[in-house]
Amino acid sequence: MSSEPADAAALHARYRAERDKRIRPDGNDQYIEPTGRFARFLDDPYVERTERDPVFDEVTVALIGGGFAGLCTAARLKEAGIDDVRVVEGGGDVGGAWYWNRYPGAMCDTAAMVYLPLLEETGHQPTKKYTYAPEIFEHARRIATQYGVYDNALFSTAVTALEWDATDARWVIRTDRGDEFRARFVAMGTGPLHRPKLPGIPGIETFEGHCFHTSRWDYDYTGGDSAGAPLDKLADTRVGIIGTGATAVQCIPHLARAAKELYVFQRTPSSIDVRNNHDIDPHWFATLEPGWQKVWLRNFATLQTGGFADEDLVQDGWTDIAQRIRDRIVAEMAETDAAPDPETIQRAYEASDDEKMAEIRARVDSVVADPVTAAALKPWYRQLCKRPCFHDEYLQAYNEPGTHLVDTDGQGVERIDAGGCWVDGVHYELDCLIFASGFEVGTGQARRSGFETVGRDGVTLSARWEQGMQSLHGVHVHGFLNLFIVGPAQGGNLISNITQNLTEAGSTIAAVVAQAIEVGATEVEVTAEAEKAWVALLDGNTRSFLGNPDCTPGYYNNEGQPIGRAQRLNASGYPDGPVAFFDYIDRWRRSGDFEGLAFVIPE
Ligand code: NDP
Repeated sequence: MSSEPADAAALHARYRAERDKRIRPDGNDQYIEPTGRFARFLDDPYVERTERDPVFDEVTVALIGGGFAGLCTAARLKEAGIDDVRVVEGGGDVGGAWYWNRYPGAMCDTAAMVYLPLLEETGHQPTKKYTYAPEIFEHARRIATQYGVYDNALFSTAVTALEWDATDARWVIRTDRGDEFRARFVAMGTGPLHRPKLPGIPGIETFEGHCFHTSRWDYDYTGGDSAGAPLDKLADTRVGIIGTGATAVQCIPHLARAAKELYVFQRTPSSIDVRNNHDIDPHWFATLEPGWQKVWLRNFATLQTGGFADEDLVQDGWTDIAQRIRDRIVAEMAETDAAPDPETIQRAYEASDDEKMAEIRARVDSVVADPVTAAALKPWYRQLCKRPCFHDEYLQAYNEPGTHLVDTDGQGVERIDAGGCWVDGVHYELDCLIFASGFEVGTGQARRSGFETVGRDGVTLSARWEQGMQSLHGVHVHGFLNLFIVGPAQGGNLISNITQNLTEAGSTIAAVVAQAIEVGATEVEVTAEAEKAWVALLDGNTRSFLGNPDCTPGYYNNEGQPIGRAQRLNASGYPDGPVAFFDYIDRWRRSGDFEGLAFVIPE
């Protein structure tokens, strides 16, 4: 049953049937945390851990996490004249997700002109429209070098506890290196996608072959490198990979070319739209006027969220989806001469999506030679139910003679034993098993960051957020003085371009810290009223990162489990959308009033 259903009703019935067979009562609990006997899946394969003495000093600002969140915040702090900044990072270098994710083919789905932060500040010209991971990692290093982030950083160091000490208004930061240093301010850029998770498949611990998670790629075992050299040690190897999400889609073409046999264990196929990558012409790049990146960022965010602009500067799959929906709404409005109501918007969205997904399924048939494999690779859900993928070699990989799609009809791998994987009563013998099973997203704050944050009066951030995130602007949390969160949620929440949220948060934090220092404040905190008012503004807003609850399960919709207020709040954004938020927060910063924050200035 792989041809297109006769009409929209039949199509949507198929979507529901496919979803229903994937719903599991255990939701997020189906995954295993990499702790205890699975802790080795977190080991850093990229650097040798070197011993050092613990530090017991004090800094003005501690930045937890050296990914783009920490780096953009550090850059803005340094620009504001705040130099005494320390990054603490579990990895052996800066880069965050781009430090860890070095799997072959890793690249960013968002165009480099808008994704790579601080391009004008660093003078870097992206080499391609969509850049590969090594260039993104290098860019992170470039920012760190330019802004002096390396000077005082602690790498290969995991924070174990973060605690507010009211006696002298300092944060105490403890780490797995025995450090216990203090900071006047802390910014947390611990990211939603940094802690790998493993599929809770019975027998997973019994596998005797080689295995690793994609975010800890073992090039010693596979050969090749992150720059794309062939995985030449796999020529005699039977490789299995579990997962077909955005990560797997990028590395499977490399495995397919290199492995003797590749078994792709699929639970839900991804939607694979065209990539159309190309080099960026340096002559064209040189013609861009100063201030160009701001213009591009605004243009992308506007078009991606249904707004209007004279031209589409980025022109990619993200802006295409949004413009199709927008144009349908406009066409309907022209016919009825009425303002768009929620039903019109929903109708326009569904019609655009049906059209888009039919194109995506047709593309599978046009590329994949074997009709049974092609049928199994077709996604039967709305495009934004899962992370949309864009690739020009993934589907082609299934035409390689050694590549086998093992479709589990939504059920996943049944069982793992010493020799391989079982699906539907068939055993697949494997030498190597790769987990492309994603990252912790839907779990609690402490589990995701790997440590607990204890604010005033011993209240933990996990307890404070048990009923969902509470903040002002996604940055300030009442009871957590002098602490700032760096992330998209409860701010712009522009999911298609995460880094824009981070540079904005960095600018906000730098402005607040600079103000505190200037006025001699020892404490800065969002008032309970301001936080409450902000949460009330976001509460009930449907513009959230969570997909439609009717969607096929995944981390966008709490694995198909009920989406309550807590999940909605955790994924909420400014009701008028990202562009309006970025304008609003710019005015808030510039006004100099810092409305909603209380600065405590000692007598
Ligand atoms: P995902 O969480 O998106 O995918 C996990 C995969 O593992 C899914 O295909 C899932 O199937 C599968 N899976 C889980 N359990 C089992 C099981 N028991 N048996 C078989 N299959 C199983 O993780 P990714 O690492 O692919 O991506 C995570 C996120 O990282 C992306 O959504 C994206 O936001 C980001 N990313 C971004 C990139 C970019 O270009 N910017 C590139 C790569 C990742 P099912 O779908 O059925 O749950």
